[in-house]
Amino acid sequence: MSSSVILVTGGTGLVGSAIRHIIETEPAGSRFGKKPGEKWVFVSSGEGDLRDPEQTRKLFEKYKPTHVIHLAALVGGLFKNMKYKLTFLRDNILINDNVLHTSHTTGVKKVISCLSTCVFPDKVTYPLDETKIHLGLPHESNFGYAHAKRMVDVQNHAYKDQFGDNFTSAIPTNVFGPHDNFDLEGSHVIPGLIHKCYLAKKNGTPFVVMGTGKPLRQFIYSYDLAKLFIWQLREYDDVEPVILSVGEDEEVSIKQVADAIVKAMDFQGEYTFDTTKADGQFRKPASNKNLLSLMGGYEFAPFDKALDETVKWFLANYDNARTGLNGRPTGH
Ligand code: NAP
Ligand code: GDP
Repeated sequence: MSSSVILVTGGTGLVGSAIRHIIETEPAGSRFGKKPGEKWVFVSSGEGDLRDPEQTRKLFEKYKPTHVIHLAALVGGLFKNMKYKLTFLRDNILINDNVLHTSHTTGVKKVISCLSTCVFPDKVTYPLDETKIHLGLPHESNFGYAHAKRMVDVQNHAYKDQFGDNFTSAIPTNVFGPHDNFDLEGSHVIPGLIHKCYLAKKNGTPFVVMGTGKPLRQFIYSYDLAKLFIWQLREYDDVEPVILSVGEDEEVSIKQVADAIVKAMDFQGEYTFDTTKADGQFRKPASNKNLLSLMGGYEFAPFDKALDETVKWFLANYDNARTGLNGRPTGH
């Protein structure tokens, strides 16, 4: 009989697959490895649509989790967020409310939900830190997603104040890695550009990057993020969110990202920027000082190496990856 059951909602996505990989491959005794008596369950929307309270209740009844890492969400890059603001707002509010409420009513001991640095105010002093989430309106491009995700922090505080529940949240920056959503329209910038560069090389067409290439982002490799989630599950017991990020001095421009993809793909063709397309927020650098002091330090994978591994994974798994071209779902 397992002494703890850790349910990972959204367990088949980019971040969930990375947590599964780390849990299955870290050596016994490692800070991030599986512990004796633990049962990890990774669920997709196929096992229950978490927008629906009854399906959520049945899922919890089936697995009886003691701990929940809550990743399930409607997720997308800048262009999908701009197009479906109400759907991002509503789906994510429903999913989060169902997961938190069912965790509460079934006595789950701890929940870590996933926010994003997109939730921070647009007009704010940098670097972002955990105290600034509610200090102003988010960027207009993703206000549906941002408002839904901010509410999780409000809910966590309310559950703690009224009932003493141990609910908290993580705030990652832009994530990339194996098993990402490589859809051409709806994905984030790295998987979207990897796929576009692949097609440009294959078809002898130009590689077109959206926007000016000037915006700056912090990127985190999914395998690093997975370890940080496992650390947070085991070693952090406060309601306040923790930013899970590389250092604020590690911002990369979209042009640098595109250059790195061109290099990793060995793409020799024409490469341009479509400046009629949106740039989104110019930058949103986040501090990882709190994380590093809580953890006592952490070594992140170098960006170019992690990008190379992701490109290799994409090339090796093209037929089965979420490309939007092979019938695999890329978002609800
Ligand atoms: P992803 O690859 O798109 O995976 C999303 C996961 O959520 C999938 O397992 C999906 O199941 C599940 N899901 C979606 N709608 C659902 C529903 N209605 N009911 C049940 N499950 C549902 O996303 P990700 O990039 O791993 O994101 C994980 C978490 O990190 C999310 O909370 C996201 O907001 C956050 N985040 C992501 C990024 C990023 O750059 N990717 C950055 C910051 C924060 P199916 O496989 O069945 O569709
Ligand atoms: P964000 O970090 O939440 O803004 O989300 P994204 O991962 O979608 O990154 C958006 C940035 O990448 C913007 O500056 C876009 O103009 C730029 N970008 C360039 N090409 C692409 C692309 O093919 N897809 C996406 N999503 N963004 C792109």
